[in-house]
Amino acid sequence: MSSTARPARTVLISGASVAGPALALRLHRHGFTPTVVERAPELRTGGYKVDIRGTAIEVCRRMGILDEIRAHSTDMRGGSYVDSAGRTIGELPADVFGGRVEEDDEIMRGELARILYERTRDDVEYLFGDSVAALAEDADGVTVTFESGTVRRFDLVVGADGLHSNTRRLVFGPEERFKRHLGAYISIFTAPNHLGLDRWETYHALPGKLVCVYSSAGESGRTPAPRGSDAGGAGGAGGAGGAGGAGGAADAKNLFVFSAPEQPHLRDTAAQKRLLAEAFAGDGWEIPRLLGHAADADDFYLDSISLVEMDRWSKGRVVLLGDAAHCASLASGQGTGLALTGAYVLAAELARADGDHTVAFARYEAHMRPGVEQNQRMAEGFVKEMTVGSRWRIRLRMLMVRTLPRTPWKNLVARKIRDGIQAAANAVPLPDEAPAPRSTVSP
Ligand SMILES: Cc1cc2nc3c(=O)[nH]c(=O)nc-3n(C[C@H](O)[C@H](O)[C@H](O)COP(=O)(O)OP(=O)(O)OC[C@H]3O[C@@H](n4cnc5c(N)ncnc54)[C@H](O)[C@@H]3O)c2cc1C
Repeated sequence: MSSTARPARTVLISGASVAGPALALRLHRHGFTPTVVERAPELRTGGYKVDIRGTAIEVCRRMGILDEIRAHSTDMRGGSYVDSAGRTIGELPADVFGGRVEEDDEIMRGELARILYERTRDDVEYLFGDSVAALAEDADGVTVTFESGTVRRFDLVVGADGLHSNTRRLVFGPEERFKRHLGAYISIFTAPNHLGLDRWETYHALPGKLVCVYSSAGESGRTPAPRGSDAGGAGGAGGAGGAGGAGGAADAKNLFVFSAPEQPHLRDTAAQKRLLAEAFAGDGWEIPRLLGHAADADDFYLDSISLVEMDRWSKGRVVLLGDAAHCASLASGQGTGLALTGAYVLAAELARADGDHTVAFARYEAHMRPGVEQNQRMAEGFVKEMTVGSRWRIRLRMLMVRTLPRTPWKNLVARKIRDGIQAAANAVPLPDEAPAPRSTVSP
């Protein structure tokens, strides 16, 4: 910023999922004026359960949303692996399954987006059903032309518009330059809970593929059970882990991960559903029934498991945040945590630099990058684990799942898994609270 330039105050944020509203919340807290534009006509629900752990816990505490996250916890009790006849191979409690420690929690992505939106909508301008068509930067700001035809001026623009970021394409170039396919796809959608799962996840592994059905406390139609209660009992009725519990929800999530080379032009939902059906054609267990629900699912999601790798996350007055800048993919289990932490750090640095974006963007990136890269390396390893290619390696894994709970070294193994995940979750340190806001507003 030149010595005569005015400090930035107005910020356009593209994307209203996790990173966008979280940044809006913190920027408003620091006295900036954020506007959020979201391409969808309304806040998008759907998606899978996401982890809040490590640094992200303190971020949520400072954002004032931790209690609400806890109140909407998935409250999972555990998980099991089943064979092709549906027989339980082995089961583990949720903490071991998720590599979790005390304060860690889990929430549905849609719930988290809703909490952040509700916390900000009275103070922040939201523009739904619109998108940025063009950006023209000059010495004093950015002229933004929206697809609706509206033209407005902002001091800064933040791209928080996900893996397929529109802002990144407009400012840095085509997606192919930055997105690296990790050799697999994920699909998830809501379906009836016909396995009767109660806060339980059931996995079935096949060569190059993994299927998971889970029902959590975040699903619709659930009869609430007291938080942390064991209604239904781990390893309860029916041999299918959490089946038949008193608190079972009406809905479950069907999740499919499968190896496949990158498919160009896969944006249309019908083509995505075809790809999924072909990948699991002829497979056993409950798969045909689970896939059958894809046709009517109104929250059907399918995307490549990819990393976004960029040399820099900002150019002039435009900066990228969350998956748009550094998608670590679902395989890291850290995309949401990094999005929240990045939002906190970016807002803090803008406040600390009193709106001087040249200083703030450089500090934000220097602060985040080492931890982001650590999580991306972890994701590469986990994708391979989720899509193990050979039958004998799957058999070996199932043998471990079956015998581990009975072995004396089970705690050692659990700790090893947990330590790796916790190191990644704490890889980005949290800066001290930023200076007092210019105007006094609630968090
Ligand atoms: C509906 C939904 C379901 C998801 N489900 C999964 C899942 O099952 N597995 C998985 O690995 N990840 C999923 N994700 C991604 C996951 O939420 C992110 O990895 C993580 O939360 C980081 O969040 P983010 O805010 O950076 O990006 P995202 O959560 O991807 O959010 C990006 C936001 O930008 C919006 N957007 C996109 N283009 C434009 C545009 N041109 N103009 C304005 N807004 C735009 C999107 O609609 C979205 O609201 C899902 C995301 C969404 C939106």
